[in-house]
Amino acid sequence: MKIAIPHSKPTIDSTDVKTVAAVIKSGYLTQGVKVAEFEKKLARYIGVRGAVTVSSGTAALHLALLTLEIKKGDEVIAPTYVCTAILNAINYTGARIRLVDVNPEDGNISVKEVKKKITRKTKAIIVPHMFGMPADIYELVKLGIPIIEDCAQAIGATYKNKKVGNFGVLSIFSFYATKMLTTGEGGAVVSNNLSLLNKIKDLREYDHKNDYQIRFNYKMTDIQAVLGINQLAKLKTFIAKRRKIAAQYNKELSHCDFELPVTRKDKKGVCFRYVIKVKRGQSRYFKYFKREGIICARPLYKPLHRYLRLKGFPVAERLTKESISIPIYPSLTSSQVASIIQKTKGLSQVR
Ligand SMILES: *Cc1c(COP(=O)(O)O)cnc(C)c1O
Repeated sequence: MKIAIPHSKPTIDSTDVKTVAAVIKSGYLTQGVKVAEFEKKLARYIGVRGAVTVSSGTAALHLALLTLEIKKGDEVIAPTYVCTAILNAINYTGARIRLVDVNPEDGNISVKEVKKKITRKTKAIIVPHMFGMPADIYELVKLGIPIIEDCAQAIGATYKNKKVGNFGVLSIFSFYATKMLTTGEGGAVVSNNLSLLNKIKDLREYDHKNDYQIRFNYKMTDIQAVLGINQLAKLKTFIAKRRKIAAQYNKELSHCDFELPVTRKDKKGVCFRYVIKVKRGQSRYFKYFKREGIICARPLYKPLHRYLRLKGFPVAERLTKESISIPIYPSLTSSQVASIIQKTKGLSQVR
């Protein structure tokens, strides 16, 4: 049987393998010089004063919330159309999540809906840039509430030529296997506020402290960091490759009877996902793609309001029912891209 084209896949080369092996051979496996180097390079890439790496995007969100002193009795606004990592991080602190609906065009948090949910207790807004496309961050910043930018899917994306990660009081990243760049598992918090970053550095590790308070073991290892350094050096080509594939999809699929992702002049996304929207019942399309050797997925497994059994998020409901994410990643070959285009064109024949 033909091997199916996976929905997503990390891009790993021989340099990655060699340098990771060298760290292992060196015997210095935990957080050390490679972590420090990765942090420096990450901060420089984003254009901020500092970066602190941690063990995951979830850990980054958790420490960002704690550093803003968010606790029980506080409220944090977040979109419903996002993974449970955000719900978990807020719940770790004891604060209450206030869910808002999203925009139909791009699945990003709706500024209009955010305004309706702000109360005296609102201490932060978590703003993810979904599928690699920047959210309406300029308008959100104007609301005057601390913003945690969630750049887990969008490293390298720009809005009016400014990179995401520059807008939040704190901004977080994930380097999970299938994100824009990977360290296996991993994450980071970046900021221009060095005192907030120092607090995050303090909270991520427990050893050699003079006082006692609850701290965590959220460190990244040098094994991961060296992979991150290599991947960051290749990010520009990763993004270029993704944009090239997206441009091919846009061109070849423009006459089909499903919706394509929006493109905008002022926002340059990084094409983390390529999401098409179909009219009725996507499950038969998933089956069709699978039969044809292409693994497609819902870009978001389940919106948060469904887990929390809340009603009244019509846009997120619609996106959940209509969205299909087709494969897009730097290691797709041109014949794989051609095959994805051909089979996606065939969707209109599926009954
Ligand atoms: C992946 C992701 C996270 C969580 O990151 P982990 O490294 O898996 O903990 C958080 N927010 C968004 C938007 C993500 O895509």
